[in-house]
Amino acid sequence: MPDTDLHPEDPLLARLRSLPKVVLHDHLDGSLRPQTLLELLDARGLPAPAPHAAGVEAWMDARAHAGTLEAYLEGFGLTVAAMAEPSALARVALEAAQDAQADGAVLAEFRIAPLLFEPLGIGPDAAVEALLDGLARSGLRCGLIVCAMRHLPPRETLRAAELALRWAGRGVIGFDLAGAEAGHPPAVHAQALARVRGAGLPITLHAGEADAGPRVLEAVRHGARRIGHGVRLADLLADPAQQALVDEVRAAGVHFEVCPTSNVHTGAAASVAQHPIRALWDAGLALSVQTDNRLISGVSASGEACRLVREAGFAEADLVRMGLDAADQSFLGEDARQAARLALRAWAHGRALPGF
Ligand SMILES: [Zn+2]
Repeated sequence: MPDTDLHPEDPLLARLRSLPKVVLHDHLDGSLRPQTLLELLDARGLPAPAPHAAGVEAWMDARAHAGTLEAYLEGFGLTVAAMAEPSALARVALEAAQDAQADGAVLAEFRIAPLLFEPLGIGPDAAVEALLDGLARSGLRCGLIVCAMRHLPPRETLRAAELALRWAGRGVIGFDLAGAEAGHPPAVHAQALARVRGAGLPITLHAGEADAGPRVLEAVRHGARRIGHGVRLADLLADPAQQALVDEVRAAGVHFEVCPTSNVHTGAAASVAQHPIRALWDAGLALSVQTDNRLISGVSASGEACRLVREAGFAEADLVRMGLDAADQSFLGEDARQAARLALRAWAHGRALPGF
């Protein structure tokens, strides 16, 4: 079970389960069901970290709380190895969409780096095809963002970009740079980003998570319409010398996909209560709360919403505003965006929240 810090019958959590969720930042290889991970490891003859689902969750939790990105990333070695089979990719994608829907998602964008499976024998197009097949079977309005791993050479990012473009319009809705941020800025991958931008495929980039705030502006200048995390931008808000930079980011209208618990686990924030999401929100930046890696961080979308209200002083009306902006900034089509807006407004009306 995710959200072990919250009581399962917590009344706020129960209420927020019904909040319509707009999922923009959820890594498929970080969000498997623990039981599925066990079954996939078993099917491939790979050793499991524990014999049962609760043990897998405890293993992930220990790494998530180790306080380093390296420990946090250990879990991905396991999930990627387990998923290296087209039927496994389809299953993980389907279950991610089903779990999102069960947690209130009205639209969802999932992401993964398909080239990760190439050394394990799965061709990039076969990987994307399997993932899209799984998502399509869910019935949820959803799409796939293709990630490139930013620590790899730019030619690999270009291959990921060409892969994304081959599947654009058939379920792939965006492009991202993921993996270790520090030392691997967007500019290194300028050619691939220009190719994607030029072809009209939307870009969201992890930026300002493990590297400094100015990387957010760099990502924007390379065409990012949304930013994964971006929390280090908060370090610049109080510095008068940085106002022009912050103003340019704000003027670009980018949306921040903020993942509070994940940031605590990787050391990007001390706690949810002290998380920079409050400062970014108060500075008028557009953002929403996202899960990042539901298995590895042991969270759900409802749980993250609950923590924001209880620990970071957000109102339920703020969560609706976040959802509406996330819907506006989704890379899915207008039908999906409009359905999400209607669901959020209906929820706000049902709770008599003013202003919707
Ligand atoms: Zn992420």
